[in-house]
This record gives sequence, structure tokens and C-alpha cells, in this order.
Amino acid sequence: MVEIRGLHKSFGPVEVLKGIDLSVERGQVICIIGPSGSGKSTLLRCVNLLEEPTAGTIVVDGVELTHPDVDINAARRRLGMVFQQFNLFSHLKVLENLTIAQRRVLKRSKAEAERIARENLAKVGLEGKADSYPSQLSGGQQQRVAIARALSMDPSLMLFDEPTSALDPELVGDVLTVMRQLAQEGMTMLVVTHEMAFARDVADHVVFMDGGVIVEQGPPDQVIGDPRHERTQRFLRRVL
Ligand code: ATP
Ligand code: MG
Repeated sequence: MVEIRGLHKSFGPVEVLKGIDLSVERGQVICIIGPSGSGKSTLLRCVNLLEEPTAGTIVVDGVELTHPDVDINAARRRLGMVFQQFNLFSHLKVLENLTIAQRRVLKRSKAEAERIARENLAKVGLEGKADSYPSQLSGGQQQRVAIARALSMDPSLMLFDEPTSALDPELVGDVLTVMRQLAQEGMTMLVVTHEMAFARDVADHVVFMDGGVIVEQGPPDQVIGDPRHERTQRFLRRVL
């Protein structure tokens, strides 16, 4: 489903990703953990083509994103991205936030886009909020709208970059519940998170990054429960 090989990314002289190899099978949930500055966001942004890799290949759904002739917009269409900051359009109602890209990018009719939007709002527990503006919602509700918006584009892969880090602690649970449910439904997910309980329960595979490399990866029981590398152990002692 996703094959990342020899991925390097530099910003000027600074090499931020130093050769990442990662495979994601369809339906798997991969959690990426690691200290600040280790390159987790840069890795996700390369998968979403928000950053151009310096070297290496990324294949998603059989399409080599790193191929010079790739149609970036077509490739990106199958990827849903949820950020720490929800990035909703503040001047649009919730329903319009969910329909605008469906209509413009997927060319769906207004009626179909609204039907799909309402289905996804129900899925995240916000069917009553279609006519609200983002500013009228809590952070946790806004993040669930952002998830529903991504789902409305029928993604084959969902990328999450610390989706709960900007939320008040009491709002984190609702967002994680939606993500757990998505995982159970078989969505393929690549999740950067500091929520170790979530990673332990939901991830099929945990990746620990430090200094632009994958130090250790494997099942959560191993990487979080019984890490082999000193750097992983040190990181987990700080966050657990
Ligand atoms: P955090 O946990 O704080 O979100 P991260 O693991 O997501 O950290 P990245 O955001 O990927 O880390 O950043 C990795 C390194 O790359 C950092 O040193 C950062 O300063 C640098 N970096 C990221 N984006 C850019 C950019 N556009 N230009 C220059 N340097 C950048
Ligand atoms: Mg980051």
C-alpha cells in the first residue's frame, strides 16, 4: 500500500531525513513516535507531497509519488491529512467545509457531496453541527470535522500529524475514539502521536524516529513495551 525506500530530505545544508525505509500494508495502523525535531512531520509531509524528497522513492497505491511525471494533484486526492491545527475554513459552515473539495476536486454534485458530508459528520458524532461555523465548536469538535472532511474525499490512506496535541486534555478522548473506530473499519493510517496508550492499543506497528532515522520499529508490545535501543528507552522514560 505504501512503500518508502531510501527517503532523504534536506532543507539547504540540513539533512532532516537520512534514509527512511518503511512499508505500510493495507488496513494497517502505523504510529510514528519520537522526540521533537526527529523528522516525523517532514516524513508525513513527504508522503503527502507537501515536501519534495531530496532522494528516495515513495509508492502509494502503486503510484510512484516521487516520479518526475507524477500528477501531484491526482496522487494527493487519495490521501487524507489531518494536522495538529485543524485548518478548517473559518468563513464556511461545517457542511461547506466538507463539500467544497468534493465539489471542486471530485466534481460531485451538491446533493451528493452533502449526502456524503452528512454521513461522515454522523460518523464522527457531529450530525447536529452541519450549520455551525468552526468558531462555534470546541477544539475536539473542530478536529473531528477535519477528520470528516478528509474522509469525505474517500482516501485510501489517512495521515495524522499529532491530531490531539493542540487539544485540551478533556477533548482528546473523543478524537481518539473516532480514530480507533476508523482503524477498526480497516482504514490504512499513518499517525504521528505522543499518545502512547493509543499507539499501544491501536497500532499494528510502531516506528521510533530520532535524528532523521528510524531507530527501531515493530509491534507495539516490543517497541513501547520492551524497546531494544537505548535511545528508544530514554525517550519512553520521558513520555510514559
Ligand atoms: P515535533 O515533534 O516538534 O513536531 P518533528 O519530529 O515533527 O518534531 P520536523 O517538523 O519534521 O520534526 O522537523 C525536523 C527538523 O527539520 C527540525 O530540525 C526542523 O527545524 C527542520 N525543518 C522542518 N521543516 C523545515 C523547513 N521548511 N525548513 C527548514 N528546516 C525545517
Ligand atoms: Mg511534527
